[in-house]
Amino acid sequence: MTQISVKDQIKKLVDLQKIDAEIYNANTGLTEKPALIEELKKKFESTKAHLNGLEEKFKSTQIKRKELELEMKAKEDEIIKANTQLTQLKTNKEYQIKLNEIAGIKADKSIIEEKILLSYDEADAIQSEIGKEKVAVGAGEKQYLARKKEIEDEIKLMEDRLKVLESQRKQQLPGVDRTLLNRYEKVLAHKDGLGIVPLSGSSCGGCHMNVPPQTINAIKMHDQLVECEKCLRIMYLEDDL
Ligand SMILES: [Zn+2]
Repeated sequence: MTQISVKDQIKKLVDLQKIDAEIYNANTGLTEKPALIEELKKKFESTKAHLNGLEEKFKSTQIKRKELELEMKAKEDEIIKANTQLTQLKTNKEYQIKLNEIAGIKADKSIIEEKILLSYDEADAIQSEIGKEKVAVGAGEKQYLARKKEIEDEIKLMEDRLKVLESQRKQQLPGVDRTLLNRYEKVLAHKDGLGIVPLSGSSCGGCHMNVPPQTINAIKMHDQLVECEKCLRIMYLEDDL
């Protein structure tokens, strides 16, 4: 291979690399963006789930209150019944026992009443939390949908750009030596979309490892394509182009 042809091949690979770097970024974006939408959706749905949880809690306080109200009604009936029995008792002792019994039922009833009042307080607190949460979920939904639309638009743009890039790449390919192309593409696929990199001072422009002087000399010779020992990317001198 003559000196001119190696330089020429490097130039073609560098041109191809510009397109491939953009293709790599577009493909990365196309992988990451739908995942981002999914993540935003999950976040939004968890705030909705929290609201549903509060609504369930509110319902259960209402059910519990109905049960307490029934219990209270039963205690009232017991008191009425005991009061009726009271009038039929003959002895003082029996009368005293019944009075104690009524006092006991009344005490039970006030405990239930207290519980009912507390359940109203609890329901009020949950209701106010539900109100705030509804506002937050509404705002969150708007934000989520707007962001989702933005990302979907970005995806569409990237897909369109990718089509253009793929077609530009196809146009470049015929000029590139097959064997070199294979070598370049192999590195490209495994090294974050970078198959050929410029030498940066005396370091590899891809992995930044120091390149020994004899390797730099070999690059300058232009009789072969030289790769970085560490990352295997093909290296070139920017001044050569
Ligand atoms: Zn390297």
